Amino acid sequence: MKVRFWGVRGSIPVPGRSTNRYGGNTSCVEVSPKTEAPIIIDAGTGIRRLGKQLMEGRFGEGKGKASILISHTHWDHVQGLPFFSPLYRDGNQISIFARQRDTHLEAVFSAQHHAAYFPVPLSAMEAGMSFHELIEGSTFNLGKARVSCARLNHPWTAIAYRVDVDKAAVVYCSDTAPFTDMMLGRAFIAAPHLGTLPPPIRAELDDMRAAVVALARNADLLIYDTQFTPEEYKSRPHWGHSRPDDAIEIARLARVKQLVLFHHAPMRSDDENDAILAKYRGVIRDANDKFELHSAYEGLEIQLGDQ
Ligand SMILES: [Zn+2]
Ligand SMILES: [Zn+2]
Repeated sequence: MKVRFWGVRGSIPVPGRSTNRYGGNTSCVEVSPKTEAPIIIDAGTGIRRLGKQLMEGRFGEGKGKASILISHTHWDHVQGLPFFSPLYRDGNQISIFARQRDTHLEAVFSAQHHAAYFPVPLSAMEAGMSFHELIEGSTFNLGKARVSCARLNHPWTAIAYRVDVDKAAVVYCSDTAPFTDMMLGRAFIAAPHLGTLPPPIRAELDDMRAAVVALARNADLLIYDTQFTPEEYKSRPHWGHSRPDDAIEIARLARVKQLVLFHHAPMRSDDENDAILAKYRGVIRDANDKFELHSAYEGLEIQLGDQ
């Protein structure tokens, strides 16, 4: 399979001179198995250019089929969908998978097509669209690909995905806070209040972490939310994002082969991203870790398994 990064940024698109090399688009990763339809993970603004490329092939003739796995429906993971060209061509089939709470998934996606936000309603899209609501721990097949998921520690809700196909596995783990300091979910938390966690919450976080490690076990590639530096995390533990240190810990426990730092903070310049990568490459070299470390940038392509 081929894994290609189309959007690597968290929170909001940040085009500009200081982000040119890593890219300013929000989260979107393409997983293309050798013989199966593309599996797209998240529909941040990066999906726009992917859609343009897909339209040059079968999708342009209205004969394309794709699945979109949504980690969660925060803006930076869905905002590109109205600009995904294959949706505007009759005959294409797009299946959307996501975990959602309270509101039906189709209603959540329709909301961003409300006339106040966007001129074309979701119901006017020409392509066939289907919505599939997931629960944590769901597993299902997309052709020959096996997809599994696990819950993450993030405001509202978010899930991680594992895709097994072509004798390789890729795991996408964004967005999540570490599983140590606080439990995030339905309730809005205005300010961090770190302290001793009640035992049931502690146990739930431990279970969540164990499930993420199990999901990533022996994966060829782990893509992980590393929006924060350790310094930044101290004042924002309630935002639901991790540090490279957290990603490295999960990579070690799960014995993955490659780890990719992902969901870069909007204010992070290319030079700062370079410095973070260099620092943590030093950390894993000193610890004698066996996995390779990369930092995601738009256009990064990684081949895994059978090619
Ligand atoms: Zn995000
Ligand atoms: Zn989020």
